[in-house]
Amino acid sequence: MTHAPATTTLFTNLRLPGRRRGSLLVGEGRILAIVPEGEALPEGGERVDLGDALVVPGFVEGHIHLDTSFYGDAWKPHIPCTNGFDVRERVAFQAQNMANAAPMAERAKNQIALCVGHGTTRMRSHVMVDGSVGLTSIETILAVRDAHKDLIDIELVAFPQSGILSSPGTPELLETAVGLGCEVIGGLDPASFDRDTHAHLDIVFGIAERRGVKVDIHLHDGGLLGAYEIEEIAARARALSMEGRVAISHAYGLGDLDRDALGRIADTLARSGVAIMTNAPGARAFPPVAALRAAGVTVFSGSDNIRDSWWPYGDGDMLRRANLIGYRSGFYEDHELEMAFDIVTHAGAKALGLADYGLAEGMRADFVTLGAEHLPQAVVGVPGGRAVYRAGRCIARDGVVLG
Ligand SMILES: [Zn+2]
Repeated sequence: MTHAPATTTLFTNLRLPGRRRGSLLVGEGRILAIVPEGEALPEGGERVDLGDALVVPGFVEGHIHLDTSFYGDAWKPHIPCTNGFDVRERVAFQAQNMANAAPMAERAKNQIALCVGHGTTRMRSHVMVDGSVGLTSIETILAVRDAHKDLIDIELVAFPQSGILSSPGTPELLETAVGLGCEVIGGLDPASFDRDTHAHLDIVFGIAERRGVKVDIHLHDGGLLGAYEIEEIAARARALSMEGRVAISHAYGLGDLDRDALGRIADTLARSGVAIMTNAPGARAFPPVAALRAAGVTVFSGSDNIRDSWWPYGDGDMLRRANLIGYRSGFYEDHELEMAFDIVTHAGAKALGLADYGLAEGMRADFVTLGAEHLPQAVVGVPGGRAVYRAGRCIARDGVVLG
């Protein structure tokens, strides 16, 4: 039996990160080789001229909420908390807004199209699983994920938005959600929300150990309380040999520590293989990205909330997110701007444990074209007019997903 030769595509006239030039030879959805410019087209192959664009790996959206965004739905004015930021109160506002929203599958689809249009090819979404919504949200998002599997890889976190101990039935629901297809188990402010750090983490890490899933915990607690919870999470990651499979999202408390305390906790995080997700939120302390990376901590990013009950911002563009991270971190030098870019690409891939990511031989041919000379210019300029390729196929152009 003979097989027709697989089509190979030579992407030419492009710039690569690191101010290199070359051509990308792609076949069967993978990068076969990066060859010198001017290399001959293999017999039977096709050539695609990328017009001198900068080619970068597909972006990694490391933290989003597909179930709770109102993007594409009617505008929902932000409701302020009565007495400063209060997670419990925000969760109540969210329940109120969700009751009057367009169908969840429709809203999730809008958000995926927004992200893919900007160049995201891999995503981690937290989805509510708790006593208030049961499994209905996760069942909806699992179906949405399946319907978009040719467009984007989505990893799902079973997220106890109403707490674990505070919301009866949640431990069992979380375990069931993992059985349904969640790759990650979430958590929420074990101390301030559930008021029992050990009991909360026993449940989260118990499920992770039994089911072999990863962990990603929302942690808004600041100061010493936040630092204590971070140390407890890191200790459990080490005890269960889960280095590289545990993340803490937000970890605002890391932005409150003095240099010595930060140094100690950064070493602990690096040693424990616990990654930190930050979206560089406005008007509050957030993790010091450069210091954490210098200590060996994986720092990744995500849009988090887009047009939802927590804040009205967000556009699903991870390149703009790199820009925001750089801006808020005071990054001016080229190597710092490149660091911001790494956070939304390779560091995200590391945090999510993606094995076939990047512009290298054998990796899946997921890439984005940018109108920029090099990465620092892309991060400060956030150019539009992009083309997004997944497994060598163009899936979006100028922000619009191709049908
Ligand atoms: Zn979140």
